[in-house]
Amino acid sequence: AKLRVGLLFGGCSGEHEVSIASARAIASALTTPPNGDRYDLLPVYIQKEGCWQAGRLAQQVLETGVALSDSDPAAAIHRWQFPSAIAEVEVWFPVLHGPNGEDGTVQGLLRLMQVPFVGSGVLASAMGMDKLAMKMAFAHAGLPQVQYLAVSRGEVWSNPCVFPQLCDRIETTLGYPCFVKPANLGSSVGISKVRTRGQLEAALDAAASYDRRLIVEAGVVAREVECAILGNDTPRASVVGEITYQSDFYDYETKYTLGRADLVIPAKLPTEIAETVQTMAIQAFKAIDGAGLARVDCFYIEASGAVLINEINTLPGFTATSMYPQLWQHSGLEFSELVHQLVQLALAGS
Ligand code: ADP
Ligand code: MG
Ligand code: MG
Repeated sequence: AKLRVGLLFGGCSGEHEVSIASARAIASALTTPPNGDRYDLLPVYIQKEGCWQAGRLAQQVLETGVALSDSDPAAAIHRWQFPSAIAEVEVWFPVLHGPNGEDGTVQGLLRLMQVPFVGSGVLASAMGMDKLAMKMAFAHAGLPQVQYLAVSRGEVWSNPCVFPQLCDRIETTLGYPCFVKPANLGSSVGISKVRTRGQLEAALDAAASYDRRLIVEAGVVAREVECAILGNDTPRASVVGEITYQSDFYDYETKYTLGRADLVIPAKLPTEIAETVQTMAIQAFKAIDGAGLARVDCFYIEASGAVLINEINTLPGFTATSMYPQLWQHSGLEFSELVHQLVQLALAGS
C-alpha cells in the first residue's frame, strides 16, 4: 500500500507565498513516478491566520499557487478546528518557512500527534530560528562567527536612560556598519544595515517591533556561501554554492524579486575553503541537533581567507530553483530522489 504523506504548507508567517511555491514543487515530486507509486499525497494548507484546510481548498491552493485570502468566504472557519483527514497521515512533510512552522511550534504539534515528520524536531527548529540561541550553540561547538551583542526589547523601549548607553556600547564594541536584527525571523525581515547613530536608533526601534529578542552584529565584507545538509545521525554535505547580487545586502527584495540575485553552483572557491564550509556546515547541524535537512549559510572573507558561520535554516526554500535542492542536484541527487530520501529519513528517525 502507498504511504500517506501529509504535505503541510502555507502558514502564519511572512513567508506564506514562498511556502506555497515550495509545496507545489514537492507535491509534484511526490506524485510523479517513481514516487507516485510509493506515496499518496494529502495536502494540508494553513491559512495566513492559522486555520487548517484539507481537501478541496488545500488542493486548490496547491494547483493554482494562489493563497486563500482571509476574506474568502470558503476560508472562514474557526482557528483550531483541524480537518479530520489529518488522522490518516502516516508521515508529515512540513514545508513552512519562518515563525509558526520552521521554529518548533508545528514540530511540537506533530510530535504530540505521534506521527513521524520530515526535518528537525522541536529543539533544533527553535534553535535554528532564534539567532541568539543559534549563535550560543555555534560558539559552544567552536565555530567562528561575527562579533555580536544581544539586546532586549526592554533596553530599546522601556527605559529612556538605558537606550543611549546601549547605542554607545554598540558603537564602541561593534562599530559601523553593523546589522540590527530581530532574533526570531527570516527572509531578512526587520533587518537593517546601519552606518550612523541615527540609523542605529531607528533600526533598533524597528527590530524591537518584531521581536523581544534582538541581535546586533558587526558587519563584514564577505562572499555569501551556502551548503546543504541531508541526513540524521550521519549527515552529508552538498557541494558549496554562492549567492551574488548587486544590492547593499541580501535583503527581502533581493531575495524575492526575480533576477535580483544569482546562484553560482558550485561556488568558485579554493578547494580547502569549500571543504571548510562543508565541515562547518555539518558541525553546525550537529550543534543544534538537526535532523533531515538544513541549509547552512557562511561568510567567506576573501581578504583574510576566513570562513564565518552566519546561520542555519532548518526548512530552507524548496522550489525547483531554490538553493537547497539545486545544491543537491549539482551533487548528483535529483529533486524527486531528494524528496524520497527526506521522507525515508523521517521514517528512520522516529
Ligand atoms: P535571515 O535569517 O533573515 O536570512 P541573515 O542573518 O541571514 O538573516 O541576514 C540576511 C542578510 O543580511 C545576509 O544574507 C547578508 O546579506 C546580510 N548580513 C547579515 N548579517 C551580516 C553581517 N554581520 N555582515 C554582513 N552582512 C550581513
Ligand atoms: Mg534565516
Ligand atoms: Mg539568511
